[in-house]
Amino acid sequence: MQQLTQYHSAEKISEGFFRITEKDVVNIYLFTGRDKALLIDMGCGAGNLSDAIRKLTDKPLICAATHRHPDHVGAAGQYGMYYCDPDDLSAEYDSIGSAQASRGMCERFGLEYNPVSASHCDILTINDATIFDLGDRQIITEKLPGHTKGSRIFIDHKSKIIVSGDAVNPYMFLQLAGCLSIEEWLKHTDSIVNYLKEGYSSWYGHGDGRQPLEQVEQIIRYGKEIVRRKKEGILPDAGSYPEETLPRVYYRSDNVICAD
Ligand SMILES: [Zn+2]
Repeated sequence: MQQLTQYHSAEKISEGFFRITEKDVVNIYLFTGRDKALLIDMGCGAGNLSDAIRKLTDKPLICAATHRHPDHVGAAGQYGMYYCDPDDLSAEYDSIGSAQASRGMCERFGLEYNPVSASHCDILTINDATIFDLGDRQIITEKLPGHTKGSRIFIDHKSKIIVSGDAVNPYMFLQLAGCLSIEEWLKHTDSIVNYLKEGYSSWYGHGDGRQPLEQVEQIIRYGKEIVRRKKEGILPDAGSYPEETLPRVYYRSDNVICAD
């Protein structure tokens, strides 16, 4: 790992693709191309992410968020603008992904929040037709809602790399305010499985980021098991399945089955 700032260090995964960890709390990813660079997620807003990224690229930078949670859009004010799915722009996510919430995340993990992170930030929307053209590589995005209503994965078909944020991860939080039901989430998880079967590598928003096919399949199996137990009436009110080992899926029993 290359130490970039007090809180940020980077791992070069392949040519023009980096994983930046914010003190092991959350991952931020950077694609660099011939003309531009794309930053995917912005941490909790601790320290100086902007300085950290400038040590990796001097290209004009585009910022985008996999989803609008406080540990993924924290440093937004250091950039003043980012792209996000419109379904994460409701008042509910204004609160969930607020600067105040990011500050709270920093306090929780003992990181010093950078007040510049709370500066005004414009949010532009993305959809399935959005292409981030970096010159010699184009990054597209696909919706994979569940963890939030607007969660998206980012895909570079040329290098077969996916950045999945928290859309499917080993600490699969589907119990939070703003999460869709597990049944709804399961309607969208096949796409990432299919990509992994085609030899893509996938990188998620926490831990060491590595997301092999077996891990993803297991998370999905656990989600299906929670739905099965709910339908059989044997699911506890809230918790995780399984309880102690990883990966695991967190649920609220009132948010397991589709409402319609
Ligand atoms: Zn999240």
